Amino acid sequence: MIKMMIGFMKDYWKYRHKVKKQDVWMRKYTKQNDYVLNPSWMMATNLKVWLSEMDETFGKRYCPCFEPSGDAVLDKKMLCPCEFVEDEIKEYGTCHCALFGSADLDKEGWKASSKRLMEEYRVPLDLKEGVLDTRGMPMDSRRDLPIPDAMHQLKSTLNDYSDNELTMIVEREQEALNLEKIAEYRGYSSEKVVKDDHYEVTLHMDGSSFKGSNSSCGT
Ligand code: SF4
Repeated sequence: MIKMMIGFMKDYWKYRHKVKKQDVWMRKYTKQNDYVLNPSWMMATNLKVWLSEMDETFGKRYCPCFEPSGDAVLDKKMLCPCEFVEDEIKEYGTCHCALFGSADLDKEGWKASSKRLMEEYRVPLDLKEGVLDTRGMPMDSRRDLPIPDAMHQLKSTLNDYSDNELTMIVEREQEALNLEKIAEYRGYSSEKVVKDDHYEVTLHMDGSSFKGSNSSCGT
């Protein structure tokens, strides 16, 4: 808990200016659409921080719960606020990430949505001797993307990882490209190897001065 709070404060400080900017458009957006922001200040702030990090890493304000897919049409739909909000609010009472919700959603409804999110992301990972195989996760039916994706599996792993080197197995080239971008942003060195039916990206984290935490959706 203390580690999580320290990580949150570091991230908040690092992205504080961007978080303020997120606040401005979110207030306008919720008012126009009769939605509300997640009433948990910490959850809403974390999501603003993660959105800011997506923007810094990938150059656009992609949904904090899904890494870019490489499909230009889908990626456009995933810019926050995404095209799935209305549909998901009808289904869960909130958007997938539980950032925006229906104005009449009660406390129990917000709790249920956060629980759904945690169950989706807190799953056992296939990590053996410094190799994380990210394949085989369930797919989100609207976006046809895995949950948790390689980016979120990396973040979850680094929460509790002491080695300086991690090899990740990913199925698609775009996932390998995303890992290389994350590595570049964080100051890790990385190398990619193309195999017959997958890609391997090895991250070398020694010497990185990255100060952010690795918390993410549901963690
Ligand atoms: S699911 Fe929510 S947080 Fe994610 S992009 Fe859509 S509106 Fe934004």
